[in-house]
Amino acid sequence: MIEVRPGAISANVASLVDRLAMPVMGVVKANGYGHGALVAARAMLDGGATWLGVVDIAEARALRDAGIRAPILAWLHAADADFGAAAEARIDVGVSSVRQLEAAARAGAIVHAKVDTGLGRNGVPFREWDAFVERAEELVADGLTVRGIFSHIAGSGAAFDGGQIERYRSALERASALGASVRHLGASAASLFLPASRFDLARIGIAAYGIHPEANAPGAPADGSDARALGLVPAMRMAATAHAGVVDVGFRDGLLPAIGAPVLVAGRVRRVATMAPDSLTLDEPCDGEAVLFGDPAAGEPSVDAWARAAGTIGYEVVTRMASRAPRSIA
Ligand SMILES: *Cc1c(COP(=O)(O)O)cnc(C)c1O
Repeated sequence: MIEVRPGAISANVASLVDRLAMPVMGVVKANGYGHGALVAARAMLDGGATWLGVVDIAEARALRDAGIRAPILAWLHAADADFGAAAEARIDVGVSSVRQLEAAARAGAIVHAKVDTGLGRNGVPFREWDAFVERAEELVADGLTVRGIFSHIAGSGAAFDGGQIERYRSALERASALGASVRHLGASAASLFLPASRFDLARIGIAAYGIHPEANAPGAPADGSDARALGLVPAMRMAATAHAGVVDVGFRDGLLPAIGAPVLVAGRVRRVATMAPDSLTLDEPCDGEAVLFGDPAAGEPSVDAWARAAGTIGYEVVTRMASRAPRSIA
């Protein structure tokens, strides 16, 4: 059983708004990082997020269809993306090329222009920014609204390229005539740990779900204590039943192979010995509720511990949890 705790998401967002002292965009892409897009979106807004962020227009439209009225940004588009539908549903679109900019202008969509300041994961290449802005200036004169200018910094530690904030600032300066009112750069890690990356809006995903954004950094603890130190509470708990050391969940529930991961059964930590599509076995026979990951504050293993054993990061563990597994929303 997957237990999703929207109250934890709301509390995390509220504490991040407070800590960062700036507005937050709650990122609910990838089905709300596996927690359910709509559940996560409502919880983010309850916690004080003023924007929602998703990858594509289809995800944004699903939120609108469910009655979400808050501002939404969708930032990655297939060649045939329907910007007209976005405009109609009041969904802002991130644009990463002159072609997308022109298509959005034709469709009457409001845009956030994305500049690539070094991550190399879409965005207008920095060396093409000048030409892009020139074209945007013409379209703005014809009625286009450029609401935002943004870029993406993935981490704040070893992966961080110190030139990115500087390049972003110079891109902003070049684009000043566009009249954009929302400048946004950092995701969870940069917003938390690089104050210089804070502009008008922090795009927060993983931290809102209670997972430390840099839990895989060298030397980081894998017990969730770093997230707790930031005041973050895990929003997903995965538990099942153990009979004689066999637990009735497996790969088909979305679990990654995590041999050696801790599992809490009847107050004792056991280890995953083998895994199969529909079950896993523990290193000793035991019976009772088996908690694969949950709230370390309650003595339960953390998502990070499962991720560590699986050789990945917490983001992937929760995002993969299949909708096939029974879930409860607490
Ligand atoms: C996923 C994503 C985020 C959120 O990142 P976290 O590290 O989960 O906070 C922010 N911005 C963009 C563009 C993203 O793709």
